[in-house]
Amino acid sequence: MAQKIVIVGGGAAGLALASRLGRKFGLSKQMDVCLIDKNTIHIWKPKLHEVAVGVIDQSIEGLQYRDHGLKNGYQYVRGCIEQCDPQTKSIQLAAVINDENEVIIPQRKIEYDYLVLALGGVSNSFNTLGAEQNCIFLDSLNSANRFHDKLLDALLQLNETQDKLSIGIVGAGATGVELAAELHHVIESVAEYGYSHISKQHLEIHLIEAAEKVLPQLPEQVSLRAQAVLSKLGIKLHLAVQVKEVTKHGFITSSGETINANIKVWAAGVKGPKVLESFSALPITPRNQIDVDQYMQVKGIDNIYALGDCAQLIQDNGKPVPPRAQAAAQMAETLFKNICLKMKHQPEKPFIYKDYGSLVSLSRFSAVGNLMGNLRTGTFFVEGHLARIMYISLYQRHLISLYGWMSAFVYRLAQKLLRWKRPKLKLH
Ligand SMILES: Cc1cc2nc3c(=O)[nH]c(=O)nc-3n(C[C@H](O)[C@H](O)[C@H](O)COP(=O)(O)OP(=O)(O)OC[C@H]3O[C@@H](n4cnc5c(N)ncnc54)[C@H](O)[C@@H]3O)c2cc1C
Repeated sequence: MAQKIVIVGGGAAGLALASRLGRKFGLSKQMDVCLIDKNTIHIWKPKLHEVAVGVIDQSIEGLQYRDHGLKNGYQYVRGCIEQCDPQTKSIQLAAVINDENEVIIPQRKIEYDYLVLALGGVSNSFNTLGAEQNCIFLDSLNSANRFHDKLLDALLQLNETQDKLSIGIVGAGATGVELAAELHHVIESVAEYGYSHISKQHLEIHLIEAAEKVLPQLPEQVSLRAQAVLSKLGIKLHLAVQVKEVTKHGFITSSGETINANIKVWAAGVKGPKVLESFSALPITPRNQIDVDQYMQVKGIDNIYALGDCAQLIQDNGKPVPPRAQAAAQMAETLFKNICLKMKHQPEKPFIYKDYGSLVSLSRFSAVGNLMGNLRTGTFFVEGHLARIMYISLYQRHLISLYGWMSAFVYRLAQKLLRWKRPKLKLH
């Protein structure tokens, strides 16, 4: 009988792995590949801020797991993992419940020969008072949709009152910076859709960051350039400012200042998802991540792997692999190759993270970032249209891992043609 590999989490890492394993072994029935996700569609996480502001429409750009699985040789199961038992080689999925609180499917157990956990991460509020209750955490499709609904209500109201809409974002990493720039672009575009009383004077965006610069993880030149662009767009930067408390009305900083905001977003820090706290059989770190070795195998447990943001893999330099889309994609690729080696009874290869640099989108027309050269040349600074093209090519690479070269090209072309015909903004 074919071995069963169960992958939980169909994001940047899990979906790429399921697609490649499915095409290589699933279609020919050499392996039974099963992908479990709590959602029915996949949106690449770095695009969540675009869903949030309505620049992309998930019903058009989202990948349907069920259809994709059929064409790529894996079985999709809708479900939310809530427990994992290495002794019986099984996982437990929570009951599926509808809006009327009716049980659609009761709790289930799924058995595996190999298990891959790719549950992603969530924003880390660092237990800041009031953050959970008053902020939207832009870390899932649901939260991006919640932000979108709030934004639409606010725009409707703003068009009537012509008051001021204030949006506060905590965390000036890639997510916060990209969201701020995209919001600015959206407010400039809504007038042509009938919100004729709204102009950029009505929007105030506050970007609050505990470090002394925006994009604190990136080189100085990239931070300074992004900072200059954001300031030019009129985004209010609050640097070296720590948020002590979040209330219904805004943020209270550790120096006692109040920053008022109608919509509050928390986009700082990454930790593993809460559900991992109850996985008592696995080694879970204080940041709720699963401790894995160089082969992405869960430490001390056979046949279970973890990858992407939910895993903690310490590199030779003592630093953990960063929670990034490129790291998730590289991990999926290495694990895929290792499974192929395992099938041929050959030794697996350790994962070595390659940092190719970082690109941050500054809305439709620009991006900034750094690209890694070699030891002699160091890193290159890129910006503007070229950086934007490179930023888009990152998404292209993700599509190639999901569809293969040819289909990814056709898919992109179809999206481009659709974009030409459909509204530029999703305003419903
Ligand atoms: C707004 C935003 C912008 C970003 N921009 C960039 C960027 O520009 N560059 C970059 O490199 N990185 C960026 N990142 C980070 C990047 O998106 C992540 O590092 C990457 O997606 C991690 O991949 P992953 O597969 O580990 O998790 P994810 O892509 O988050 O996938 C996790 C999957 O697991 C599913 N899941 C979660 N819990 C359960 C459960 N209990 N049961 C079943 N399924 C579950 C989810 O539905 C999801 O499909 C950004 C992140 C955000 C939020």
